Amino acid sequence: MVDKKIIDDIKRRAEDEDVPIMTDDGIAFLLDYIEKNNIKKILEIGTAVGYSAIKMASVADDIEITTIERDEKRYLEAVKNIKNAKLQDRITLLFKDAFDVNLEDKFDLIFIDAAKAQSINFFEKFSKNLKDHGTILTDNMKFHGLVDKPLHEIESRNVRGLVRKINNYHDFLEENDDFITQFIDVGDGIALSIKR
Ligand code: SAM
Repeated sequence: MVDKKIIDDIKRRAEDEDVPIMTDDGIAFLLDYIEKNNIKKILEIGTAVGYSAIKMASVADDIEITTIERDEKRYLEAVKNIKNAKLQDRITLLFKDAFDVNLEDKFDLIFIDAAKAQSINFFEKFSKNLKDHGTILTDNMKFHGLVDKPLHEIESRNVRGLVRKINNYHDFLEENDDFITQFIDVGDGIALSIKR
């Protein structure tokens, strides 16, 4: 078990430094899902400083995680945090752009939590690494509540573009017959896509 103080410190530092991490409700849902479905092998796209990876690895001693981060500062902080939590044998960190990573392994769960405009591409690239009946879980489907706002009320052109892409991803998941997707109103909105 990872010392609660270590996890609390990582979370506080992430919040102080404006590093985006999963919300408390979202992470509680994710951990519960991992436990109830006996998930053992996880791929995470978007490590940030390792907060969610450490929380997921804490669910059971035989969980193994591969996690990808392209930002060097965050990656180095994650290496430090994961070592501190003594999880370096169970969490493999890849310092790369996820689009440059090619994996052969198959995972029970793929957690997509990286650039929100790229979710369709992440989904398409990594679904071959999912076991049959495995799950792809995507965070931030509500994008801080902005997805429910009429587009003309969003001032920033960039944000409008992002919201449009998240809406496209929503439609892509709904129309994807290889998966059954449930949209769950927890945290910042989670999409749970189970491979048929
Ligand atoms: N999962 C983390 C947690 O809850 O503790 C938070 C991840 S944060 C929301 C998203 C991270 O994805 C950022 O640190 C960003 O640098 C990384 N990222 C975005 N696009 C990426 C890509 N194409 N490849 C690798 N990392 C990426």
